[in-house]
Amino acid sequence: MFDNLSEKLDKALHVLKGHGQITEINVAETTKEVRRALLDADVNFKIAKEFTNRVKEKALGQDVLTTLQPGQLMVKIVKDELTQLMGGETEGINLSGTPSIILMSGLQGSGKTTFSGKLANYLNTKKGKKPLLVACDVYRPAAIDQLHVVGDQIGIEVYSDRENNDPVAIAQAGVAHAKANGHNVVIIDTAGRLAVDEKMMTEISNIRDAIKPQETLFVVDAMTGQDAVNTAKAFNDVLNFDGVILTKLDGDTRGGAAISIKSVVDKPIKFIGTGEKMEAIDVFHPSRMADRILG
Ligand code: GDP
Repeated sequence: MFDNLSEKLDKALHVLKGHGQITEINVAETTKEVRRALLDADVNFKIAKEFTNRVKEKALGQDVLTTLQPGQLMVKIVKDELTQLMGGETEGINLSGTPSIILMSGLQGSGKTTFSGKLANYLNTKKGKKPLLVACDVYRPAAIDQLHVVGDQIGIEVYSDRENNDPVAIAQAGVAHAKANGHNVVIIDTAGRLAVDEKMMTEISNIRDAIKPQETLFVVDAMTGQDAVNTAKAFNDVLNFDGVILTKLDGDTRGGAAISIKSVVDKPIKFIGTGEKMEAIDVFHPSRMADRILG
C-alpha cells in the first residue's frame, strides 16, 4: 500500500538524518521534497502546500535542545500532521437506531455492494448484530443477484423485490421487514451511476428522507485518486453524508484520496476495503495509516 509515496517520503526525510540540527535551509529542502512526494501521490496542490507549510512552521518552532535527532523529529512532525490530515481520531458508525439503518451511496463500480456485504459480515461476526441487506437497485437485475450471492456467502438475509421499481418503497419495505423479523441493523445498497447525475442524487435523497438512516456512507474507489475527492465533494454537497468508505486500498493506489478526502469534505473515513473477499475490511485508524505511509 502506498509504496511509492512511502519511498519518496523516506527519501525526503533522509535529507535531515545526517544533520546535527534543524536549520532553515535543511527544513526548506526537506519540506520541498515532502511536498513533491505528496503531489506525486495525487494529493491536491492546495492541501499539499498547506501541509508542508504547517510542517515547516512546526519544525522551525522546535526547541533546539530537543532529545530527538532532527531526522526523527521531522518524521514525528510529518506523522502527526498526516494523522491530523486524515481525521485525527478513529470514528465509528452510529448503531443507536432500532434498527440502525445504514444507507450506502457511491458511483457504480466503487465497491458498494461488496462493501455492504463486508459491513454486514463485520457487524455480524465482530459485533454480534443481526443485519439485513436490502437491494434497492431497480435498474440492474444483476445488482440484485450480486447482493444475493454476497448474502449467501456470509449467511446474511437479503431483502429484494424484483416486481417493484420504486427504490423508496423497497427501502421502506426492507426496514419494515427488518423490524418484523428482529434485525437490528439494515444496510441499504442503492443504485450507482457511472457519473454524478441529478436523477440519481434525487433518488438517493428521497430514499434517505423516507427512511431517515443513522448513517449515510459514501463509498469511493481509492484508485481513482483526485477523481475520488471530486466525487466525494459532489455527493457531500447533496447528501451531507456521515462518513467515507475507501475501497481498493489493496490495489496500486498512490494514496492521494486517503490523504485528501477528509480535508475536502470534512467527513471522516470510517472503513477501508482491502480486497475482494468478505473479510477484507478494516476500521480506518488515521494514526496507523500515517505509520504505514511513513513505512
Ligand atoms: P458497486 O457497483 O459499487 O456495487 O461495486 P461492486 O461491489 O460490484 O465492486 C466492483 C468491483 O470492485 C468488483 O469486482 C469487486 O470485487 C471489486 N472490489 C470491491 N471492493 C474491493 C476492494 O476493496 N479491493 C479490490 N481489489 N476490489 C474490490
